[in-house]
Amino acid sequence: MAKVESTRTFVEATLNVSELLFGPYARLYGYAGSLVMLTMILVMSVRLFTSRRRKAYLSLTASVLVFLVYYVVMIAGSLFGAQDEARLDLAAQTIHVVAFIMMNRAIYQLYNSTQKRHHLYFYASLLLTLLLALFRIFVPSLFEGAPEQLAELGRIGPDVYLLLLVFICFIFIPAQIGQMRRYQFGLLVFFSIHLSYLINRYMLETPSPVLTFVELYAPLLYYFILFMLFFERIVELMQASMHSAITDGLTGLYNRRYMLSKTNQYIRLGYPVSVLFSDIDNFKKLNDTKGHHAGDEALKAVARIMMEESEEIGFAGRFGGEEMVVLVTDPSIDMGKFSEKVRGRIEAETGVTVSIGYSKTKSREDDVSAEQLIAQADQAMYKAKTTGKNKVVKFTVSLGNAAK
Ligand code: GH3
Ligand code: MG
Ligand code: MG
Repeated sequence: MAKVESTRTFVEATLNVSELLFGPYARLYGYAGSLVMLTMILVMSVRLFTSRRRKAYLSLTASVLVFLVYYVVMIAGSLFGAQDEARLDLAAQTIHVVAFIMMNRAIYQLYNSTQKRHHLYFYASLLLTLLLALFRIFVPSLFEGAPEQLAELGRIGPDVYLLLLVFICFIFIPAQIGQMRRYQFGLLVFFSIHLSYLINRYMLETPSPVLTFVELYAPLLYYFILFMLFFERIVELMQASMHSAITDGLTGLYNRRYMLSKTNQYIRLGYPVSVLFSDIDNFKKLNDTKGHHAGDEALKAVARIMMEESEEIGFAGRFGGEEMVVLVTDPSIDMGKFSEKVRGRIEAETGVTVSIGYSKTKSREDDVSAEQLIAQADQAMYKAKTTGKNKVVKFTVSLGNAAK
């Protein structure tokens, strides 16, 4: 007996799944699913806009809101009676086109700063939407014919226009943004949704269940793709801003603040560390004779060598104009040999030379600060400058005393 019961519940459950996908309420379920997905994107974009105030996040928030309004209208349309339906249908169709335009503009803005020309395209496409909506309203007074046919004539304008917009986006936007393939895939999904709708609406006597299914449930995939697109872009932007907060724009080396905090961190933990301090020789003269650009190129070339040489043993940073430091955290490194190698490579490969000083923490009990350790290496570098340049000098206590 109990077995029969459970079988029946199971059958009912499977029936409900097909009801869900194809039944009389499928439309509502599909819309509800889209509402949930869009709400997720909305929460994300509002959060981003309140903390970052970028135009793209505002556009994104606005476009998601318009999409949400579209679904509210659609739900209202399928709940209310037929006489409201025509007006709701007009509203829904217009809002849908507007939402699509706004969404694609938001995606564009996530990757580009908008120029005047693009504002123009945006407003022109919105204006055209409005004109098509007005056309739809006035069709009955402009033409003669059966009301049914006139209604169809009015509504086909915005529908074809939306199809055209998908093509325009597909042609012009991918090259302007990252995640090209994902964006194109999204458009393809949107295209198949819209095409299913068009075929169902204009070409078939009774809607095909398969096309209705695509029409109702493929939007979930579309919004998921959008969500992924925004998510990826935001992670990308966050990483970039984190990176730019600790690095130097010209050379890509860590900046002074980061180098100081990193050095302090190692010292506090009691690890033995060494600091190499370098300054390019006669750099002013290079700037004066060959120009600032040549100076910048030399800086980059020196920085690249610093980066390569420090890669597995520590961190390289730009400390000031043409002063670079390397924090060496690998205690097995012979600093004399290491500094000499760096100096030799720079002389051989870059067209400039550097004077180098270095200093080491002595023991765990040595309570030198990062600032002091770097100042010691700087003093040693200064000694290298005053005794002929293009050489390496090690910091010693007598050097420190001499400086005082
Ligand atoms: P010394 O051998 O004694 O170090 O001589 P120097 O000419 O290098 O003297 P100093 O260190 O005082 O000169 C630093 C010069 O570096 C001054 C400034 O014009 C140049 N400089 C600083 N930052 C940059 C930069 O980002 N790009 C370029 N091209 N030049 C820079
Ligand atoms: Mg200098
Ligand atoms: Mg110099």
